[in-house]
Amino acid sequence: MQAKLLLGLTVLSCAAQAQNKYGLHATSLAEYQVSIKSDPEKELVALDKSVPEIVLDIRYATTNNFTGAKVYNLPRAYARKAVAEALKKAQSDFNTLGYGIKIYDAYRPYSATITFYELMKGDTTYVASPYKGSRHNRGCALDMTIIDLKTKQDLKMPSDYDAMQKESWPSTPVSDPIVRKNRDTLISIMEKNGFKVYSTEWWHFDFVGFEKYEVMDIDFKQLEK
Ligand SMILES: [Zn+2]
Repeated sequence: MQAKLLLGLTVLSCAAQAQNKYGLHATSLAEYQVSIKSDPEKELVALDKSVPEIVLDIRYATTNNFTGAKVYNLPRAYARKAVAEALKKAQSDFNTLGYGIKIYDAYRPYSATITFYELMKGDTTYVASPYKGSRHNRGCALDMTIIDLKTKQDLKMPSDYDAMQKESWPSTPVSDPIVRKNRDTLISIMEKNGFKVYSTEWWHFDFVGFEKYEVMDIDFKQLEK
């Protein structure tokens, strides 16, 4: 009797939320629109509008990324409202040092996470597992660096963005004191403002509290409709 009831419930919930081949259900545009009605904090906001002066260099909307192909249909940086608010506070800390923020990637549709995982043939050292989804898919992760506000040039970091090598790890020692200071400044200001750096990427920051936000599969053109 109980088994039958459980089976019935499982069938019901599968019908409501179909899972993909990785056993995950990513939120659609319609589901997202319902979710922000009950919780406006979940809204995805455009970072260049909510964090003025921010510089965007959205690599996945170009061919200048590790896949060599254009993955996004528009060069956009979206994040949940609470993430944008925390980033704004970090920006004011960077500004007092004469630095600004450059964003390489923010919200990433779940379908891009599948593309990256399949390209990497299942190696998850530098890309997320589609069984869980990425924090980027939740609108709760930022790939970024800092620039000099006067020259607009990137501050020198231990590796290029998306370089899949040990130099990208925040725990790897850096001999050049200026590069070390740049990396440590980026990480310490972001962590002071509610983010956590990723263990293999100095440029990737997860918003603390990402768990309450769902994995979404909505592309940028859909979002702007
Ligand atoms: Zn990232």
